[in-house]
Parts: sequence; C-alpha cells; structure tokens
Amino acid sequence: MTDGPILSVEALRTTFHTDRETVRAVDGVDFDVSPGRTLGIVGESGSGKSVTARTILGLVDDPGRVDPDGSVRYHDPEFVRRTAASHPDRVRWLDAESDETGSRSEADSRSGTGSASESAPDEGVDDRFVTVTDGHPDEGAGGIEAGWVDLVAAPQAVTEEARGSEIAMVFQDAASSLNPVYTVGNQIRELLRIHRGLDGEEARRTAATLLEDVGIPDPERRLDEYPHQFSGGMQQRAAIALALACDPAVLLCDEPTTGLDVTIQAQILDLLERLQRERELAVVFITHDMGVISRIADTVAVMYAGEIVERASAERLFGEPRHPYTEGLLESIPGLVADIDLLPTIDGSVPTPNEPATSCRFAPRCPEAMPECETVHPRHVPVGDDATSPRDETGDAASADRHTAACLLYPESLSRRARLAAHEAADASRAGDSGDLGESEDSDAPHVPLDRSPGKDDEDQP
Ligand code: SF4
Repeated sequence: MTDGPILSVEALRTTFHTDRETVRAVDGVDFDVSPGRTLGIVGESGSGKSVTARTILGLVDDPGRVDPDGSVRYHDPEFVRRTAASHPDRVRWLDAESDETGSRSEADSRSGTGSASESAPDEGVDDRFVTVTDGHPDEGAGGIEAGWVDLVAAPQAVTEEARGSEIAMVFQDAASSLNPVYTVGNQIRELLRIHRGLDGEEARRTAATLLEDVGIPDPERRLDEYPHQFSGGMQQRAAIALALACDPAVLLCDEPTTGLDVTIQAQILDLLERLQRERELAVVFITHDMGVISRIADTVAVMYAGEIVERASAERLFGEPRHPYTEGLLESIPGLVADIDLLPTIDGSVPTPNEPATSCRFAPRCPEAMPECETVHPRHVPVGDDATSPRDETGDAASADRHTAACLLYPESLSRRARLAAHEAADASRAGDSGDLGESEDSDAPHVPLDRSPGKDDEDQP
C-alpha cells in the first residue's frame, strides 16, 4: 500500500461533441484521495460529478472524449509492477528524487534500453503510461517500489483490468448494477471467477461472506434469490458487495443513498464507513446532499459546471465556506440555518458549459458578482488560514486538505484591482500555454499563490 495518494486526478477534461454543440462536462478537475480517506464531491445535478467518476473508470462512451493532456494516476505498487511486467516498453523510469516530468531522452538514457522510443507510434510522441519513481530498470518490474499507471493514457485493456479489481463503483440505482435475470449469488460468483480465478464451492463461500459483510441476513439463502426479491436497501447492499468482490483499493460511490429513505440511508452510510475502516479503502463519495457529505467526508470538493470551485477539509468547508456557491448550498440545508419558514435557494440552474471558461461560470447566479466576473476566469487561491500559512514543502497528502477557492473575491489580502490583475495574469498564462489566448499584457500583476491542484502548486503561479 502506498503512503501518499492512491489516486491522483489532474487536469481531467471530458467533452461531448454533438452536431450542435460541445459540452465540456468535466473541465480541468484535480484531486487526490488516499487510503482510508473519503473525498466528497458535491454539487447540483449537471455539475459534472458523475461524468468525473465515469471518466476515471474509462466508462465514457461516444460522443464523449477525454483530453489526453489530463491524467488519472493509480499508485498501487502491485498494479504498477504487474502492468510494467506486461508492458515493459511503456515504462518510464524516474528516480524518486528526480523531476517527475523528466524528459523522455533522460529516462531512456537511464534505462539504457531505448525500448520506449522503439514502441512510440510517432516521432516525439511519448506513449509510456507506466511511470516508476522508485525502482531501477536493471531489476525489471520486480524491483518496482513506487510509481503510477496513468489510466487516461493506458490502453483500454489496462483500464478494464483496473476497473472492478482496483477501482470499483457503486451506482445510485442499485438496479442498474444488478442484472435482473441472474441470481445475486450468480452475479458475485461470475465476478470472482473473472477477476480472482475462484470457482465452485470456494466462489460460493466467498460470495456468502461478502453478503454477510454488507449486513445481508441469511446470506446462504439470499445467494439464490433474484434482485427483485431484495428490498431497495438490500439491493444497495448487494451492489456494494458486488463492488467489493474483487477487493478494490478505491471505491467510487455515485449518489449511493439517493432514493433511499433516511433510515436506510443512515444504515448504508454506516456500512460504508465500517467497510472503509476494515479495508483501508480510499472513497470518492459523490452526492448533491451537503448533509450526507458533512457526515461522511474528510475532504470536500465543490463542483459547479464542470469545475471544482472550492475544496477544503470537511471541517473548514462547513465551518468557513468561502465561495459564494458553497455558501448558497450550505444555506439551503434544512436545520443548518435559523428557524425560518422558507429555505434560501440559489436562483437559476447550472449552465451547460459548452465554451472554454473565459469568465466565472457562476456569475449569472452569484449574489456577489462584479462586472469583472463576466470577463475573467478565476483560478484557485488559498483562502482562510491557508492564505497566510507557509507552504507545505512536501506537498501531496498534507496539501490535499488545503482550503482553496476559485473566486475573484480572493485573496482577501489584496486590493480588488490587484486581485483581478493576478487572476487575469494566471488565466492568460494558462490559456497562452494551450494556445487559446496569448500572453497576459499585465506584466506587473502581483504574485499570489494561485493553486491548481493539491501538492502541485508551484507550476501555475503567475
Ligand atoms: S468570481 Fe465573481 S461571480 Fe464568481 S463566485 Fe466569485 S464573486 Fe461570484
């Protein structure tokens, strides 16, 4: 098991192209999740939460496209070793101390094999999707201690191998993950056969243990029943058993309690918390329900129109929300505001993000919008205590809890003019990199610690 994040998502972009428009459903999403921790992703319907999860699992169908410049790095050492052994010509060898973006020629000369360049489809195109940060090519895959497999760059067969056995998903509608024409036991045994090579009595015993683990009484008898013979709560438990059948390290839960009554919802949350403790699972929990997030998440990412607009530890996010959208979501939770007749709501609805962001996508609904919000795309900046605390030199796990918001109201320490100049410069610099807009004209923009992703902050400063 890795000490740092088990899953790192960076600059993830998923677009859907139709005859009439291009929908940027996920537009530059970054996050890390570590073993034993829960990241909550929250936002209204249409904010891109579910597409993010499906992209991680390689479940985006036509006309969806995943931008190859983004990455989904899976860090399990055993999976890295196995994938490196089966794809030796797709491995990039880096020393743990070296720059992880080290050039191809550097890596090739260190490996002494030049095999990667032999396998590259085009001159100058790097098709290596396994990166080793601790290990040496002379020892082969067996000597690999740390690294990652990039599931965006990997061939479909590798993504399919990771799906279910390494990263599993629990869907909102249990019926969608249970086949109505097979018994529950049959479906679990099939997974055990394909992914773990179990058969016969051993597979049946393991399936019964899984049902018992998720709190289904009389599991031996239940194995022979069909999904329609289970109640809604029991169906969701069976779906969780299916997701855990291959002992994954990461569990993506997409609204797993929506549609269940509050008692069953609480039982499912209890179950997920217990399973996470027992298995050291890294959980990404997706929901529109702030109440559920406040109960289950260690860290929270708030999504709006394809982007993460605020992230923080759950304690900070609920105690000191900074982004106007997060504030609106929190104000609309019953019981978290004073005793009033009518709960506040956020007027309007989530827009369809069909253009590259050149403004704040929340501006039409934001009670604090300024004219500049229509022309400048805000970048993440540290807020609250993190706006003044010293940087974490090592990055990664500690930085994953850093409180940041993508809003032109921050950093508060700067004047309005300086804040806008800093965001403008950062946005123009990023767009310039991708060839969209060109360089910022404001070379005197003040330095602010703009933040693109946990642990990878220094790349994007203006
Ligand atoms: S950038 Fe402007 S519109 Fe967007 S959340 Fe901040 S204040 Fe509101």
